[in-house]
Amino acid sequence: MIEKLNKICETKEEFDLTKYNTYRLNSISKCVVFPSNIDELKEVLNVVKDYKHMILGNGSNVILPPYYDGVIIKLDKFNGCELHDDYVYAECGYMINKLSMDLVEKGYSGLEWANGIPGTIGGCVYNNAGAYNSSISEILISATIYDGKEIIELNNEEMNFSYRDSILKHNKNLILLSCKLKIVSADKEELKQIVNDRTQKRLQTQDLSHPSCGSVFRNPEGVAAGKLIDDLGLKGLNINGAMVSKIHANFIINDDNATQEDIVNLINKIKKDVKDTYDIDLVLEQEIIE
Ligand SMILES: Cc1cc2nc3c(=O)[nH]c(=O)nc-3n(C[C@H](O)[C@H](O)[C@H](O)COP(=O)(O)OP(=O)(O)OC[C@H]3O[C@@H](n4cnc5c(N)ncnc54)[C@H](O)[C@@H]3O)c2cc1C
Repeated sequence: MIEKLNKICETKEEFDLTKYNTYRLNSISKCVVFPSNIDELKEVLNVVKDYKHMILGNGSNVILPPYYDGVIIKLDKFNGCELHDDYVYAECGYMINKLSMDLVEKGYSGLEWANGIPGTIGGCVYNNAGAYNSSISEILISATIYDGKEIIELNNEEMNFSYRDSILKHNKNLILLSCKLKIVSADKEELKQIVNDRTQKRLQTQDLSHPSCGSVFRNPEGVAAGKLIDDLGLKGLNINGAMVSKIHANFIINDDNATQEDIVNLINKIKKDVKDTYDIDLVLEQEIIE
């Protein structure tokens, strides 16, 4: 298989993914491929269809295993971006925080909420990423998707968006290639002020000096998951280097060489304590990769 992949595009064997996930977990993948265009992607998918494989964006919402015995597909080379009067076209590998700042610099409103999110457009559409009561579902006009057979165009409604959810989550054959996002021109200085205020807020309230994947659990109806965890006194709880952040109780940080198992053990401990005390089932926002 690897020989075949090598002929199609850049292919790495036994590849270290430590720098490719924001928990900075030591994770080796049997193989990683970097297709440059849709034809190469199609050929890759044809080769790997009977093997374990997955798309990895910026690795900011996944908990990777020590060894991934399959093929990781990285779409970093799908990184085109074009600005039009009332929309921006962005390919799946483009970073949303970069796009957010690009738009502010050019005086366009639409993505001010996203400047602190270290994810790709692909990962953010998949998760319907959002912040400050806004999310990508509010601005997505259409998405270009490869469904394993052909390239299709879905409109906003067809994406079945809901809170941190989209059609992509329920059908792993669907790969987001690019999308069009609605933007409107706005006062550049006002946009900069909004983004600066939010950056300050994030710096004060989130643990950005340690590796993490951001919020671990969804907020249950009417209450912040972080408050429940904080009220139980779990800040600072540490299992083998996986630690509940002392700054933000809904963040788990990799404090010292944690593994997937350590993070999952900590997640389970938090879930159990929250269930025992409040009878609330916390729902994981991050994805555990097998
Ligand atoms: C400090 C910090 C702050 C954060 N703040 C926020 C926040 O405010 N709001 C928020 O919503 N999230 C936040 N996150 C979480 C994370 O950045 C988002 O969930 C983001 O959308 C993940 O994008 P990614 O490219 O890293 O995806 P990855 O973690 O690489 O992948 C996530 C999933 O998306 C799939 N995927 C990726 N690309 C594609 C594609 N092209 N087609 C189909 N599927 C694809 C992957 O297969 C995987 O299943 C934060 C994370 C960190 C570390």
